[in-house]
Amino acid sequence: MNSKYILFFFVIVSVSTAQQFPQFFLDKTLRVDYYHTGTKGTEIFALDKIYDEGIWSGSKTQLLDNLNYGEYMIRVYDTQSGSMIYSRGFSSMFNEWHSTDESLAGIMKTFHETARIPFPKNKIQLTISRRDKQMIFHELFSTVIDPNNSSVVNIQKRTPLFKSTKIVDNGASDKKVDLLILGDGYAKADMQKFRSDAKHYSDVLLEASPYKERKKDFNVWTIEVESKESGIDKPGKNEWKENALGTMYDTFGSARYILTEENRTLRDIAGQVPYDAIAILVNDNRYGGGGIYNLYTTCFSVSDVKGMEWQMDYVFVHELGHSFAGLGDEYYTSSVSYNDFYQAGVEPWEPNLTASMNKENLKWKSFVNSSTSIPTPWRKAEYDSIEALRGKLDRLATDYYEKRKPLYEAGQAIINDPKFKNIVGTFEGAGYVSKGIFRPSIDCRMFSLSLVGFDPVCSAAIEKVIDSYVK
Ligand SMILES: [Zn+2]
Repeated sequence: MNSKYILFFFVIVSVSTAQQFPQFFLDKTLRVDYYHTGTKGTEIFALDKIYDEGIWSGSKTQLLDNLNYGEYMIRVYDTQSGSMIYSRGFSSMFNEWHSTDESLAGIMKTFHETARIPFPKNKIQLTISRRDKQMIFHELFSTVIDPNNSSVVNIQKRTPLFKSTKIVDNGASDKKVDLLILGDGYAKADMQKFRSDAKHYSDVLLEASPYKERKKDFNVWTIEVESKESGIDKPGKNEWKENALGTMYDTFGSARYILTEENRTLRDIAGQVPYDAIAILVNDNRYGGGGIYNLYTTCFSVSDVKGMEWQMDYVFVHELGHSFAGLGDEYYTSSVSYNDFYQAGVEPWEPNLTASMNKENLKWKSFVNSSTSIPTPWRKAEYDSIEALRGKLDRLATDYYEKRKPLYEAGQAIINDPKFKNIVGTFEGAGYVSKGIFRPSIDCRMFSLSLVGFDPVCSAAIEKVIDSYVK
């Protein structure tokens, strides 16, 4: 380490240890809404409204992001001293859309987004940066915000729209992860089902390792959001519903992908309670869900086929792996709507994906035994040929599960081969890419559609995120 790097190291440390929550912040939340507009090669941000929300639910001691996950980074500076006083990584729906055919064709589109930060006492400068293809952040937007300006909307003065309940209470929000569960497509008559679904998914998550061992670090909240109708939109079938949060299937043309573009409505409702993470249960019966880092998770809550109810539990915990812990998809054989989401040779920011062929600079090298080969051989060609047949099946056909069964079982037999079990190495095929992107284990909740647990690398990543809220 040369002197230049030592100096750099000390500057960073002195800024982060100088963070004193009471010096810069009040115990409430500043919600900054903005529009994120663009097309391939262009990206524009524009402020919308700024809100004074309830108490700050995040950590009051870890104000600077030490995880370095996400496609974007929010940074907040105190304008008087110039010190960075808060930062947080996140990903967005815009970013995913940015790699779809629509964006590549040059169509301009706008998404509404929100940044939530502790409420500053004085004027701040807020910046948004995005990674380039080499994963280096570049600033795209910068604005000065005066939290004491009279245009800041005091949302705390509004009457809550729906009933909220703290269904798991382990203590003060700034020392816990506050998970908020909302329902969409639950009509008035479905509210008892929502209560029991929320309890079910809360239990499913907190019984899955490593969440199970960290149960006491979580609070769980629910808000009983009432929709006018049961179910949500299915644009591909021309089925449209009056669902309160605007979730829909067929996002980016993928039948199973559920997201909402109604960010303002979602945030107005969510802001009733202190929250760090949002999960939206969708009262509909087509297999599906979604999860974006530091945005939200969605999951269907009515089983599509009898005997396959376990798939909903799988989806919920898998999608929270994305939205809560920044994990990447480890599967690569199912079709997605993205083009070049990951590129061979470029190291992804996700803690469980790598392009590295070298054990020495492998980000999870501390988990790899000296006897394990890198890359780690597995029966990939065989697995790929089975998956190619599965990929030809129509997911929405009534006999889909019947036709899928033998292929699913053959694939599971390969990934359950005892030869590869419990090995951490680099297994080729991950992040929708068959070659050049690697995952840590043969199987994981982020890889196969099964109730398998998280591999050791993903588990450690989840724990690190929990720590960032509670320590
Ligand atoms: Zn996924």
